[in-house]
Amino acid sequence: MADQQYDVVVIGAGPAGYVAAIRCAQLGLNTACVDQWRDGSGRASLGGTCLNVGCIPSKALLESSHYFHHIKHQAKEHGIAVEGASIDVPAMQKRKRKVVQGLTQGIEGLFKKNNVKRFVGRGSLAGTGRVAVRPVNDGDDDEQIQAKHIIIATGSVPLTLSAAPIDQQRIVDSTGALEFEEAPGRLGVIGAGVIGLELGTVWNRVGSRVIILEALDDFLPAVDQEIAQEALKSLKRQGLDIRLGAKVIDTGRASSGVTVSYEQGAVQERLEIDKLIVAIGRKPNTEGLNAEAAGLKMDQRGFIEVDEQCRTSLGGVYAIGDVVRGPMLAHKGSEEGIAVAERIAGQSGHVNYEAIPWVIYTWPEIAWVGKNEQQLKQAGVDYRAGVFPFLASGRARGMGESTGRVKILGDSKSDRILGVHIFGPQASELIAEAVTAMEFDASTEDLARTVHAHPTLSEAIHEAALAADGRAIHI
Ligand code: FAD
Ligand code: NAD
Repeated sequence: MADQQYDVVVIGAGPAGYVAAIRCAQLGLNTACVDQWRDGSGRASLGGTCLNVGCIPSKALLESSHYFHHIKHQAKEHGIAVEGASIDVPAMQKRKRKVVQGLTQGIEGLFKKNNVKRFVGRGSLAGTGRVAVRPVNDGDDDEQIQAKHIIIATGSVPLTLSAAPIDQQRIVDSTGALEFEEAPGRLGVIGAGVIGLELGTVWNRVGSRVIILEALDDFLPAVDQEIAQEALKSLKRQGLDIRLGAKVIDTGRASSGVTVSYEQGAVQERLEIDKLIVAIGRKPNTEGLNAEAAGLKMDQRGFIEVDEQCRTSLGGVYAIGDVVRGPMLAHKGSEEGIAVAERIAGQSGHVNYEAIPWVIYTWPEIAWVGKNEQQLKQAGVDYRAGVFPFLASGRARGMGESTGRVKILGDSKSDRILGVHIFGPQASELIAEAVTAMEFDASTEDLARTVHAHPTLSEAIHEAALAADGRAIHI
């Protein structure tokens, strides 16, 4: 059979790859996308980590568990009596699966609508301008596709820890931790990073006693430390037992669970728990891509090397998303996908890596964009800070959500906004204003002179901007 020919072949249909494929097709490029993902029932499923076992299922569980927690602990304050509220974890999981299925099938629809040709199987580099697709049923012959341009978007997989081998029963990675059919009585988590905090929060809210072991002495070192310290206090108050400087030495089987031995300072400790989540980071995934034989350059940590335009060391081959440098975030990968598609089509696509928002979906949420105080101090940048607590926000008080603050950092001379950091209700939504402001190179004065509706949470951003100039009204 003659090779099939395309303008662009995308390998991987996560948020980087599927978005790249759709944008290529929109721009009139004849596009194919190869993906090997199978869901729990063996069905091919688009959307990669994000839709199948990442952003979407975790946020669905966070939402359900938030409702439950709210009803149990906050309804009374509003004068609402709810007797014997309980949570049906299998029902919560069923809802999550429905959300995931709806969205992954939605991408199938988008591929059809945009005429993106879908291949199910493993894609590998098979010489200049060629991709081989290994069908999922081994034994079938590889299909050969020719492409003028290849976009690699093969994503990432969880890092493993030899002291705590994953069996997806007692010791699980993030994928297993999204699947518990009942809240473990005692749940251990290795890693107080984004996944450890989000999934620890889910199971804590529905009744688990959660103990998080973090190797570093600092909590969330990438986050502005004023914000991180307030978040740490709040999470501890919610019942998360976060132990910093805790180095796991070994794990073993207990009668019905797991034992974990760890060192904290000079002290050796031992835990007995029902389940253990390992959430110590993720690594780029290039397995089965034939990358080395094809001569694709990778760095020491296994990321595919790319320039600022996502071009790899091979002509006509691009790489985007988690498999290349930069934050492992769905929206970062999607933006790279759009930019690469536009460059292939002769336009000048671009990603502003200085204005990529981060969100940790605990409650309150933690969100930020740009530089934090530690980074500015280290770089010797002269800055001024404006802080406004949600305690002084009428809307937050009305909501009963007055924990947290907004902090804006501006350049002392030019007043350009350098970073915005939020710990508070709906920080994930509030941060968008800060991203837009930074994208347009706004100053804190620009935000201070922008009218914000009253009463809204966004007024806290307005007030923090005023505070940067020492003229906040409500504090
Ligand atoms: P992936 O989503 O990993 O997709 C890669 C795809 O390529 C997969 O379908 C894979 O099967 C396929 N593939 C790999 N190799 C081949 C091959 N050789 N041939 C064919 N197909 C192949 N990010 C956020 O921004 N917000 C969040 O709230 C968030 N929550 C998360 C929660 C969890 C629990 C986890 C684990 C991650 C979360 N992330 C979140 C991170 C986010 O999921 C990733 O940054 C994002 O999925 C990366 O997108 P990608 O397209 O680069 O790769
Ligand atoms: P992470 O890098 O956020 O956190 C891992 C944590 O584990 C770190 O604090 C690290 O110090 C700690 N650690 C490493 N080795 C350890 C060890 N041996 N013992 C104890 N602690 C150890 O990684 P993650 O939480 O696994 O998440 C992976 C990535 O997925 C994130 O960095 C992020 O890019 C993405 N993600 C994003 C979101 C979001 O945007 N809301 C949610 C989940 C995941």
